[in-house]
Amino acid sequence: MTSLPLFSRAFRLRCPACGGGPVFTSWLHMVPACPVCALHFDREVRGYWLGSYTLNIFLTETVWVIAFLLAAVLTWPTPPWDAIEYGSVGLMILVPVLVFPWTKTLYLAIDLYFRPAEEEDFTAPHETPRPRSGSPTRI
Ligand SMILES: [Zn+2]
Repeated sequence: MTSLPLFSRAFRLRCPACGGGPVFTSWLHMVPACPVCALHFDREVRGYWLGSYTLNIFLTETVWVIAFLLAAVLTWPTPPWDAIEYGSVGLMILVPVLVFPWTKTLYLAIDLYFRPAEEEDFTAPHETPRPRSGSPTRI
């Protein structure tokens, strides 16, 4: 699969695998599986979204560096350090929330590009837990 459809769908906040949706019920809440193709978005891997959080931090830091450089260069030789400091705090709070949905879908697209979905990624979750070994059996 080429990367263009994956990332195009991710930028539109759709399922990167099929383009279906909606994949978000609110700005900060993603459904566990695609409503169209049933892809499990966390790929059933514990800690899967750490990559998304890393991408979020990377984007936030990139926005901050660009804003800092613009503010410093445009106001040189007397940059307003207090305004830059307060603006930096505002950016560090605002940007992670603003980019949150895109970091989730983009991270999923990156993961699907390097580790394409397999059949078990689309299976329905087990609704009844399996009996534990060693549990008493009924006669
Ligand atoms: Zn899908």
